[in-house]
Amino acid sequence: MKSFRKELWFNTTSRRELINITPQVNECLRESGIQEGLLLCNAMHITASIFINDDESGLHHDFEIWLEKLAPEKPYSHYQHNGYEDNADAHLKRTIMGREVVVAVTEGKLDFGPWEQIFYGEFDGKRRKRLLVKIIGE
Ligand code: ZN
Repeated sequence: MKSFRKELWFNTTSRRELINITPQVNECLRESGIQEGLLLCNAMHITASIFINDDESGLHHDFEIWLEKLAPEKPYSHYQHNGYEDNADAHLKRTIMGREVVVAVTEGKLDFGPWEQIFYGEFDGKRRKRLLVKIIGE
C-alpha cells in the first residue's frame, strides 16, 4: 500500500473566506500516483474547516449569512472564550462546517458526485494556516 502526505498553506486577506482547493488536492493526488484508495483532507487549525459543496457564489453568500446568524462575530464580549482572543465565533463556525472530508479515489481521480468541490473555510484569517492531505491506496 502507498501512502502520501502533504501540507498546504494559506494566508487569507480577510477574516472569513471560502477557497476552492480542488485543484491543489487534485495536484496532490496526481503527485501521489495512487489510483485506488482514499483521500483525507483536514484543516490543521480549530478555526478553519474543510468541507465539500457547490462552487456557487450565491450559496457562499448564504453560508456567510447563515453562519453569522448562528455564531455572530460580534459583540466579542458575548463569548466567554474571548478573554484573550476574539475568535470564539470562528471556533463555532468551524464546528458547524466540519473538520475534514474523505473522498474515494477511483482510477486515479477524486470520485465526486455532480458539482462536488472541496473548500477550505477560513473563519479567523489574516495569518498563515495549513491543512493536511493524506492519501492511502495503491
Ligand atoms: Zn480561540
